[in-house]
Amino acid sequence: MSLTDIKNSIRNVPDYPKPGIQFKDITTAMKNPAVFKEIIDEMAAHFAEREIDYVVGIDARGFIFGAALAYKLGCGFVPVRKPGKLPADTIAEEYALEYGTDKLEIHRDALQKGDRVIIVDDLIAVGGTARAAANLVQRLGAEIAAFAFAVELTDLHGREKLQDIAEVYSLVQF
Ligand code: AMP
Repeated sequence: MSLTDIKNSIRNVPDYPKPGIQFKDITTAMKNPAVFKEIIDEMAAHFAEREIDYVVGIDARGFIFGAALAYKLGCGFVPVRKPGKLPADTIAEEYALEYGTDKLEIHRDALQKGDRVIIVDDLIAVGGTARAAANLVQRLGAEIAAFAFAVELTDLHGREKLQDIAEVYSLVQF
């Protein structure tokens, strides 16, 4: 299977959730077992030689790819969640959206100093979400080995918010 096959399996939904946005719908890719397997196998192959303790997945689509990647790499999975979802003691990071702000949380005891992690989401757009997740990970003293995304929207230059921290890997680009 080629990267073009993977790209073609991702549905573009124009004007969702609002006019002007081209929404990359990954549900059509995940539904296809060969495509879903190829995405995870490719990502895992890229990181196979690295020493990684945890995959940190971002709520909610980052859980789908992140959990599968963690399983494949044989490491643990740590969720970064929207406010109020994690039951134990958390730390939070606010970040800017186009209109207003949003917040992400992680359990205070989820990571320890020196842990090496990959931060995973389905897609990077302007990069604010992944940057906020990175701030949480760093505040807990863990080390970011890389950021990994199934899809990168290159025109939005999100990687520029992350590449001073660690490698930014994406499988397909639009
Ligand atoms: P950003 O903080 O701009 O990099 O946004 C990344 C988050 O928003 C990811 O969790 C994506 O799932 C979602 N997202 C942003 N833009 C899009 C888009 N055009 N298509 C699909 N998901 C998007």
